[in-house]
Amino acid sequence: MHIESPDLLAQAEHISLSLAEQEQSAVAACASELSAQSKSHQTNLLGLSRPEMEQFFEAMGEKKFRATQVLKWIHQFGVTDFDQMTNLAGKLREKLKTVAYIQAPEVVHKNFSKDGTRKWVFRVGDGAGSLVETVLIPADDKTGARKTLCISSQVGCALDCSFCSTGKQGFQRDLTTAEIIGQLWVANQSYMEDVPVGERTRTVTNVVMMGMGEPLLNFEPVVSAMRLMLDDFAYGMSKRRVTLSTSGIVPMIDKLAEEIDVALAISLHAPNDELRNELVPINKKYPLAELIPAARRYISTDGVIDSARKHVTIEYVMLEGVNDQPEHAKQLIQLLRDLPSKINLIPFNPFPHAPYGRSSRNRIMAFQKQLSDAGFVCTVRTTRGDDIDAACGQLVGQVADRTRRAERWQKKVLQQQGASKNGNHTEILRTRG
Ligand code: SF4
Repeated sequence: MHIESPDLLAQAEHISLSLAEQEQSAVAACASELSAQSKSHQTNLLGLSRPEMEQFFEAMGEKKFRATQVLKWIHQFGVTDFDQMTNLAGKLREKLKTVAYIQAPEVVHKNFSKDGTRKWVFRVGDGAGSLVETVLIPADDKTGARKTLCISSQVGCALDCSFCSTGKQGFQRDLTTAEIIGQLWVANQSYMEDVPVGERTRTVTNVVMMGMGEPLLNFEPVVSAMRLMLDDFAYGMSKRRVTLSTSGIVPMIDKLAEEIDVALAISLHAPNDELRNELVPINKKYPLAELIPAARRYISTDGVIDSARKHVTIEYVMLEGVNDQPEHAKQLIQLLRDLPSKINLIPFNPFPHAPYGRSSRNRIMAFQKQLSDAGFVCTVRTTRGDDIDAACGQLVGQVADRTRRAERWQKKVLQQQGASKNGNHTEILRTRG
């Protein structure tokens, strides 16, 4: 692991890998490189959808039904060792060992919060900026039955939303299907480890594609991973419990509607173009006048019964003095008047040197009331996992990356620190409010 700016990182109070963890991690990186070389001619079965798995077995001269057997072993029982796949003939198991393997991304850090929240940091490549994070958030109801996993789709992100710590890293690369579904596999596995194979059940009940990255800009691997989530022979999740969250890539929302039936969330965060251009810059390309009709098209399912597309979830991060005023609520009511939607207000979780502050509880409650009084279902997200930096908006890798955007951000932070030290603290990063 390469750390370019340890001082800066030390001040960034994010997940910190201990020295021992870093050494272990470096050894593991070497081992994984050697192992990658030996596996370069083999197929990682973790990332294959059912049709791809069937093709794989047919190409081996095997029957198609082997695909469903292996899918179940991998995704339902968390088995990666072909020798444990007892309903496969010994000869087939030996053959599989020579042409395939099953491997989730490497976990380099994990942290389980007192409130049940779990967080993993995965290495998905070599060098700096190759880490992604995944967070499991249990429901705050009494049953604790609902467990929602927030999955990353890219390393970093190109879209640079001004309130988002991931956006400050810049874009590194897209994740593969195996790396995306591997996050779900690891989360389930963390509850299975001590359970005999035959008694294992999957624990994650809901998935939101809402971690690092814009999922619609990594379309094929994301859709392929979501197909595995819905597949009865893999995770068998309800389509209403798999949600893709987008900042608003309009043409890809239409494409998604053609490909798969899952729930849609829009990271809206502002009720007018002027403010949204600043908070979510992709709005300059796909303004609200295009985004809202695209969301409406997505949920017009042409009479498909039992579709996941009954409404769109609108995510709205509450930034103090920026987008949380009564006139913003009024504009939001107007904007969403013809869109079946549920609004989720998200108290902002400031990351180190974030340019915004979190709206006060009273302001959030007043905003919620204004929307509820107008007839909207409006909830306020509970902040979870604060003791492990797992709350939304904190999905940032600890390793400094080398993109120009990250350098610019670090320069601003250092300037800000210099200004603070001189007793001349000015909020140079704050753009509104
Ligand atoms: S909020 Fe989402 S789309 Fe925007 S920069 Fe962050 S990860 Fe990317």
